Amino acid sequence: MKSLGDNAFHLATAIAANAYLVEGRRGLILIDPGLAPNVNRIARELVHHGLSPFHVTDILLTHYDPDHAGSADTWAHRTGARVWIGAADAAILRGEAKPPRTPFRRTMALAGRPKLPHNTTLIEDDTEVVDGIRAVPTPGHTPGHVAFVHRGVGFIGDAARVSPEATLHPGPEFLDTDPVQAAASRALLQTLGIVTICAGHSAPAMRI
Ligand SMILES: [Zn+2]
Repeated sequence: MKSLGDNAFHLATAIAANAYLVEGRRGLILIDPGLAPNVNRIARELVHHGLSPFHVTDILLTHYDPDHAGSADTWAHRTGARVWIGAADAAILRGEAKPPRTPFRRTMALAGRPKLPHNTTLIEDDTEVVDGIRAVPTPGHTPGHVAFVHRGVGFIGDAARVSPEATLHPGPEFLDTDPVQAAASRALLQTLGIVTICAGHSAPAMRI
């Protein structure tokens, strides 16, 4: 677990995509806890650092892909935590909206859809979720993709890749459901005062 400043941490043991933690006022907030095997890995990591996995109060999901959202339901059932996700992505997971029909999305659909617990709050627009953390819709990679901003730390999921110099880059275009929306979301991310950029598939980087 590596400190990112502002009570935010990069979890070292998560596989497949980056998972992050914020120590909130009332408990622990997990961002993108990821695939099912991460549940025990992250729980052990928390215990190793003197934190209780049962103090997780909120799970923030940037989007619905399994490498970000796959274990949210398990965490919610084991801890009672609330889950937060963009409304358009929740509709896809619940079968209320058709998943995007790009070749990549069709392939991903074969892997199954992560479950959402009943205790899920939908993010419709730019809003505060918990402990002053702001959710900012950043569609493009998925229709309901959301970035979370906690003070100067931005958790941007798969809205962009990040260079070691903290510049934002597009990911491979075939991963984006709507590349035009994705470009607009990357431009929006530049305006949010983010100093430490925490992406799903790049090392966290700090603007200097
Ligand atoms: Zn993704």
